[in-house]
Amino acid sequence: MDGEHIHIDGIVQGVGFRPFIYRLAREHALSGWVRNSSRGVDIEVWGPEAARDAFAQALGAQAPPLARITAIRRRMLPANGHDPAAGFVILESQEESGFTLISPDVATCPDCLRELFDPADRRYRYPFINCTNCGPRFSIIQALPYDRPATTMARFPMCDACRAEYENPLDRRFHAQPNACPDCGPHIWLEMAGAPRAERDDALRQAEALLLAGRILAIKGLGGFHLACDATNHDAVLRLRQRKERPHKPLAVMTPDLATVRRYCRVSPAEAEALTSPAAPIVLLFARADTDLSPAIAPGQDTVGVMPPYTPLHHLLLRDLNRPLVMTSGNRRDEPIARTNDDAREHLAQLADAFLLHDRPIHNRNDDSVIFVADEHPVPIRRSRGYAPEPIQLAFETPEPVLALGSFMKNTFCLLARDKAFLSQHIGEMDDVRVWDFQIESIRRYLDLFGVRPARISHDLHPDFAQTADAILAQLPGLADLPRTAVQHHHAHIAACLAENRVAGPVIGLAWDGTGYGPDGTIWGGEFLVADLAGYRRVGRFAPFALPGNEAAIREPWRIAVGLLSRQDARTPGETDEIFASFAPLREINVVAEQARRGLNSPRTSSAGRLFDAMAALIGLRTRVTYEGQAAMELETLARTAPSQPAWAIEPEDMADLYEIPSQAIMQRALANLRSGVAPAVIAARFHQTLIAAAAALVERIAADTGLREVALSGGCFLNRILLTGLTDALRARGFTIYTHRHVPPGDGGIALGQAAITAHTHRSPLTAH
Ligand SMILES: [Zn+2]
Ligand SMILES: [Zn+2]
Repeated sequence: MDGEHIHIDGIVQGVGFRPFIYRLAREHALSGWVRNSSRGVDIEVWGPEAARDAFAQALGAQAPPLARITAIRRRMLPANGHDPAAGFVILESQEESGFTLISPDVATCPDCLRELFDPADRRYRYPFINCTNCGPRFSIIQALPYDRPATTMARFPMCDACRAEYENPLDRRFHAQPNACPDCGPHIWLEMAGAPRAERDDALRQAEALLLAGRILAIKGLGGFHLACDATNHDAVLRLRQRKERPHKPLAVMTPDLATVRRYCRVSPAEAEALTSPAAPIVLLFARADTDLSPAIAPGQDTVGVMPPYTPLHHLLLRDLNRPLVMTSGNRRDEPIARTNDDAREHLAQLADAFLLHDRPIHNRNDDSVIFVADEHPVPIRRSRGYAPEPIQLAFETPEPVLALGSFMKNTFCLLARDKAFLSQHIGEMDDVRVWDFQIESIRRYLDLFGVRPARISHDLHPDFAQTADAILAQLPGLADLPRTAVQHHHAHIAACLAENRVAGPVIGLAWDGTGYGPDGTIWGGEFLVADLAGYRRVGRFAPFALPGNEAAIREPWRIAVGLLSRQDARTPGETDEIFASFAPLREINVVAEQARRGLNSPRTSSAGRLFDAMAALIGLRTRVTYEGQAAMELETLARTAPSQPAWAIEPEDMADLYEIPSQAIMQRALANLRSGVAPAVIAARFHQTLIAAAAALVERIAADTGLREVALSGGCFLNRILLTGLTDALRARGFTIYTHRHVPPGDGGIALGQAAITAHTHRSPLTAH
């Protein structure tokens, strides 16, 4: 009798892999064992060669739905008196050096859902039902290997019935670490004004009554708290916005099932697939008109972010209430999402009328992920719960582990080791000390969980970020003195796109976003780069313009429009001009025009995002914004109401430089249209088409110069569907190969991957000069 050792890499823990192996080995009459190691799963099988081959083949072909096998390695074993009568067994986990992969949290599976609503089941209406195919994973894991004592379930000893399931290899709950039931597991309760009001199903019923009465609830979920209210109760939604100090930014909605989603939104097959996937993200869908959803959910937008119930508690709430709920992150403005019961009691007391709590601790905080579907593929807007910490598989191996600290906005960090990039869950805006603390704590956990010691640190080129890095690394023992690489923001965007597409470049990279520090000290944001993973050259850009008043221009984009349209020879841009007069008092407009002309507190920028803002302001759509990207998103929505508009004709004489998108000429066309009575929606649409045409022409010019035929699109502007699909189509029609984002966000949430990839290459093969 011959034996062999099989090692499997990938996400193979906590996904029902060992029972699957157990059944498979018995099916093929093989003896031996299977064991989780901290590096994956190890198997030893003994039996005839044909049976072992059939077994190895079935391993890959029939693996459980949540498993992700990245490698299977087989090696013959010396004959050693193995006794086939010992059968096939599951051994205890073993610790080793190296890293293993951790499953993200998984939405409730159909089997558990059936049991949840089956009055005969012992887990009928139990809010923590789960099995090997679903339930919490990353959010409860404290250490590896993934066994119950290393999770926040350690405090709940299993009852006899649960223990029997857990120990039976043929049971769906075999080694399901969070396995629990009403007798032995976590439970829920309701608190109001600091006092417990009800427990278990009673708590749920009272919570539902409060929601129906228009109250706002803080609900403890999988990766953090939500603030919830009835999405069809306009007053409740307005109250939630007021308390959260969030006047306009869209709120996510949870709906009972797919049929309900279709009542409120149009859903394509690819969108339905995303909504029913184990990751259960928020999906941005086009909203139907005239539904009973509060208009305050996504003001100014034609889309609404919808997510499915993804825990048993959500399923109970949503099915009982049979209506959509607003479910927005449970945090105060700019703070991280509340994680512990005490966090919520302290930070959400002014926001919530009641608290629906439970006693299963959340170890790793994890916000909801957000995606949209373009070209029948999901594009991440925020990659977090359900995805992190699953690594991005790369086409290269880094010579040394790298820790990349990411960006100021929508921060994530990235740990790069071997050929895997562990992009963290969403951390937040790095302008609050609590967000810093969250980043520091999460970095520490990733380093421990994956057993990686970085050899180099990567961060943004912005001079302020060097100081931020100092402050963060000072709290991470051993990291403060590591060598550092500063990476340009837009190069990082393109590198992130290349890395996830597993291409090395060079490519023509279009990195369009709001703001990033340029090595010339100006603000970049509408860049055409020739780039690979080692370096870049800037070969084109949006013609730079002034941001009069700097930060003020970002909050009040009418200032940018005035700056772009104020004439060099005139003292005021439009003393008698109604269009300008609508922005602000004339005196203020004159001050802004003067600021722009003389360059007083008016940094120059090539930002595409800021040009979108200026256009939205000019046509009177949005002169003052309350969240990043608001004006641009509203402009996109408006443009969709006027389909099939032609681009404005841009002549070479409009262009001071053939390698620039003529920002000023485009604004002047819009102003001329506006003065001759063209509808704002038509102007918005022509603006989009003009950018697409001008960008395609400039790419053609760069391609002629360089011979490159591959183009990467990255940066937050490519969350704009008109721009993304329009430019992709235009460039494909000209024969270019296009790389876009599918796995990490085009926006700043993907920056850390690019920083890490560049840092891994810069010290190995400097192909191009900075
Ligand atoms: Zn399940
Ligand atoms: Zn139990």
